[in-house]
Amino acid sequence: MLPLSHPDRIEPDSPRPRRSSHPSRPSATEVLRYGERYADLRDQHLAHTLILEDAREEREEISAHERITCHVHRRWAHECIASPMHVIPVTGHRWCRPCEAEASVAVDEVTRSVTVVCTRCRQTPETAATRQITRTCRASLAAAHESRRARVQAQNTASAAA
Ligand SMILES: [Zn+2]
Ligand SMILES: [Zn+2]
Repeated sequence: MLPLSHPDRIEPDSPRPRRSSHPSRPSATEVLRYGERYADLRDQHLAHTLILEDAREEREEISAHERITCHVHRRWAHECIASPMHVIPVTGHRWCRPCEAEASVAVDEVTRSVTVVCTRCRQTPETAATRQITRTCRASLAAAHESRRARVQAQNTASAAA
């Protein structure tokens, strides 16, 4: 029996298994289509993730709220969640319904904790939208951390080779 080429198959010589559902690099077509907007970003990993998520959003695989990067601000989700643009009363994102007030998001880069608190009652709105913010900001914190680590590693390799 011939081994079937499955997208989830792990290449024997690849250092790390890569989930096909979330590749870390966009295809050439995706870069061509969505990349121009992010061409000046210094963080390549961020630019790649933005392109990938733009593509996935357009294919309706994810919603704008499930992204770990922000299309509008061109940043990791946790870096611009404090912007007034991310207060969306209709969906309940950064919004306390009983108070009809804004909620703020505290992001701790060190402990990687994300806390959503109503600016009026000081309670966490227990909604799906709040859980989504917490989830995506935690994921974007982790991705940004990973990206920084990769950059430092690349710099070290470059200086060692020089
Ligand atoms: Zn944003
Ligand atoms: Zn409240």
